[in-house]
Amino acid sequence: MIVAPATSFGQGGIGIIRLSGPGCLDLVRPFVLGLGGGPPSWKSHRLYYGQFTDSSQRVIDEVMAVYMASPRSYTREDVVEIHCHGGLVVGRRILETLRHAGARTAQPGEFTLRAFLNGRIDLTQAEGVMEVIEARHRSAHQIAVQHLEGSLAHFCNELREQLLDSLALLETWIDFPEEDIDHPSFDSIVGTLTSVIENLRPVVASFRNGRVLREGVSVLILGKPNVGKSSLLNALVGSDRAIVTDLPGTTRDTLEEQLDLDGLRLRLTDTAGLRDSDDPVEQEGVRRACGKIAQADIVLLVIDGHRGMDDDDRSALGRCAGKNSIIVINKSDLPSVEIPSLPSHFPVITVSAATGAGIDRLREELRIRAGIADGEECPESLILTEERHHQALSQTLEKLGKTIESLNAGLSPEFIALDLREAVESLGVITGETAPEEVINRIFSRFCIGK
Ligand code: GDP
Ligand code: ZN
Repeated sequence: MIVAPATSFGQGGIGIIRLSGPGCLDLVRPFVLGLGGGPPSWKSHRLYYGQFTDSSQRVIDEVMAVYMASPRSYTREDVVEIHCHGGLVVGRRILETLRHAGARTAQPGEFTLRAFLNGRIDLTQAEGVMEVIEARHRSAHQIAVQHLEGSLAHFCNELREQLLDSLALLETWIDFPEEDIDHPSFDSIVGTLTSVIENLRPVVASFRNGRVLREGVSVLILGKPNVGKSSLLNALVGSDRAIVTDLPGTTRDTLEEQLDLDGLRLRLTDTAGLRDSDDPVEQEGVRRACGKIAQADIVLLVIDGHRGMDDDDRSALGRCAGKNSIIVINKSDLPSVEIPSLPSHFPVITVSAATGAGIDRLREELRIRAGIADGEECPESLILTEERHHQALSQTLEKLGKTIESLNAGLSPEFIALDLREAVESLGVITGETAPEEVINRIFSRFCIGK
């Protein structure tokens, strides 16, 4: 029987302590006294009001407690939850009492692990629990909830069934080689595999979108000092977080802000101005800014349209050559000078960070550049956010491709079945059907205590 705090104690009005395992009700019962004698008989899924005492009957707190009889609980085992006040000492004393009575402190993720081992959820749903808790953003949360509901698991299981049918056909062929496989079944195997591939492909391709939705898009604001990088960051974010000064070179280090663009999360980083300098601190800032170019998804290269371009601008432009970049010509509220022709593959947007002119167009361009492709036929509920899922499904695709090749090359059915079996296995890794123990351990080790 395991016990752990299910909420974080110390701040909240209410804290919840959860127990799971056979006999947990009997363990808790002596410590919960109802007003007037205690809950007589605990019915499942009812909330009881009472006092929680230690083993010498001293009251620790006023509580509500609920018993959830197996299998209708989070872990599918008997579960008891005690809702007490959220104070540190309260939580600690109740836990202590329960441990002395024989409950063991749960390992990180152990409740969810039990839910998985008892077959209530599959691996994608367990990961969904983490995703839901960790979601920092609406759209990430939206996908996480669907993973939690099992949308991805359902999809994988369905495809897996189809592949298993084909495998069964092949195996009949292996077992009764004298009966030459007839063409209808050969064609039907190829047909099934092809349709599975077609179903998988957009899902595998959705991984980039999934990552973008989960982690956001990193946008680096680059340009020489005083062109208005910090002002632009403020104009985009709509607050005064970045320090704006008239002194060139004040944003020494980098500064990150988050921007929500209709559900798309941008992580904007302001950098020290790029220019030749003898100041070692400034040089370090420039070095860091350049180091960030490679990691950025999008670079905003800012040019001062009032002053025009010089060598520092041109060298900054050179650094962005291979990047997904937008050239921003700032200070449109001031008289502008002619800007020489710019590389034509970069969009050029003219703005005024001071007045806000053009900022909406810039936001629009950012959305396009962020590359959330609307045209992808991957339904939202199947968007991949986990590297593990992406790997397994890519592998499935690859093995299916090989299987079809082997079929077309007229290889022996044993060979073909081998490839197909591997495809079935990598598909099963996603839901945990065929996941090796180390994969399962790795997933649950990411959880913290009480989940
Ligand atoms: P950074 O060094 O590139 O981060 O530039 P800052 O954002 O600190 O701005 C440098 C100076 O340019 C400040 O005095 C800003 O007020 C001014 N500035 C920035 N954007 C604009 C703009 O669009 N129009 C005008 N007129 N001034 C601006
Ligand atoms: Zn700045």
